[in-house]
Amino acid sequence: MTAIDRREFLKQSARTAVGGVGVGLLPGAVRAAVEPEQPRVRRTVALGDTGLHISDIGFGSSRLRGDEGLVRFALERGISYFDTARSYTGGRSEETIGRALRGRRHEVVLASKIKVRADDTWQRVMSALEESLRSLQTDHIDVYFNHAVNDIERLANPEWHEFNARAKAQGKIRFAGMSGHGGNLVECLDYAVEHALVDVVLVGYNFGQDPAFYQRFTRSLDFVAVQSDLPAALARASGKGVGVVAMKTLRGARLNDMRPYESGGGTFAQAAFRWTLSNSDVDALIVTMKSPEMVEEYLGASGWLPPVRADVSLLDRYEARNGASQCRYGCNACATACPEGVPIAEVLRTRMYAEDYGDLELARADYAELGAGASPCLSCAHRACTGACPFGLDIPSLTSYAATKLRSSSSSMSSAPPPVTTGD
Ligand code: SF4
Ligand code: SF4
Repeated sequence: MTAIDRREFLKQSARTAVGGVGVGLLPGAVRAAVEPEQPRVRRTVALGDTGLHISDIGFGSSRLRGDEGLVRFALERGISYFDTARSYTGGRSEETIGRALRGRRHEVVLASKIKVRADDTWQRVMSALEESLRSLQTDHIDVYFNHAVNDIERLANPEWHEFNARAKAQGKIRFAGMSGHGGNLVECLDYAVEHALVDVVLVGYNFGQDPAFYQRFTRSLDFVAVQSDLPAALARASGKGVGVVAMKTLRGARLNDMRPYESGGGTFAQAAFRWTLSNSDVDALIVTMKSPEMVEEYLGASGWLPPVRADVSLLDRYEARNGASQCRYGCNACATACPEGVPIAEVLRTRMYAEDYGDLELARADYAELGAGASPCLSCAHRACTGACPFGLDIPSLTSYAATKLRSSSSSMSSAPPPVTTGD
């Protein structure tokens, strides 16, 4: 498919997806800036009980490194929710968004994140927030997440509560949240919601974790969704008025693998988004966008439409192609499989950043936070983790690969297979 053909295909699939929803739903500034046939945001949603209204598809910026034009392109297409984190691209993500939104800050809802540890002080978190405010060139962040939470201790830290109270009182943040995609996500979500600690949650959620996907379409009891409790936890959060935003919706983002099969009027990414957004307990989703073409493709799924037969076929095929080689978000079934204490799921997530997302910088930065990481795998003779994955992943091979390729910034990925995807 040529570049022009592809662009036309994406536009066509966007039209198919929105089913005639009118341009009149768009804000005036956006309506004036965008031609009627261009892919754009078709639906805005209430974010829980916050009073905020955001586009159903938001701009994820975990790999944003200076492309202000891309941020403004997304804005012109109606995206009104921009998500970043202090740690993304070494601070460049926040800085880029700050420059891009200069003079237009009031048009968007801005979210950022910081990891609050179990022993952090409120002063340390406040200091990090102030750095983010400077980078983002704003006096407040709308939603400020405790980043990548996977244990209750980080939520129970009274210093985080103190920070939230002070930052809200000072007008530096409007709402508090937690983000997570680890094996203890459900437990953490329930704790945060039951203790009224959060206004918004950002969670890893996709078709591969949803029991309905397997029950409705594969009708196989061999596959059991590893986060079978997650939909119910999202319902409990939503029922309490907590805003729910989904991430990791593409289940690993091996997008290029799926191009040959996208003949039913939509793309794999659009199918995955529609699946996620068809859960009424999910308000919106974010996805990393790396190019205008990617923005256009992704916005083809904006609007209120459930997955259609062709979507399900794509999701099913994706599962069949990748099921035996992708670590599942939220699974931790192998947590105790390694006597050497290798955090297998975390290691495989960083490997995915390198191999599937093609982002070595992100992979190495996250791998560096894992301490020894998977280095014990390189000299492991017993390989006790073999067979520990119910999905058949060859854990020793995958972790050893990560240990070799990600262990230091001086190591080389030159021998790695080329990345096969274009986004997450
Ligand atoms: S390797 Fe297998 S068992 Fe371990 S977290 Fe990933 S999917 Fe689950
Ligand atoms: S290969 Fe050995 S060290 Fe590595 S995760 Fe498996 S059991 Fe642990």
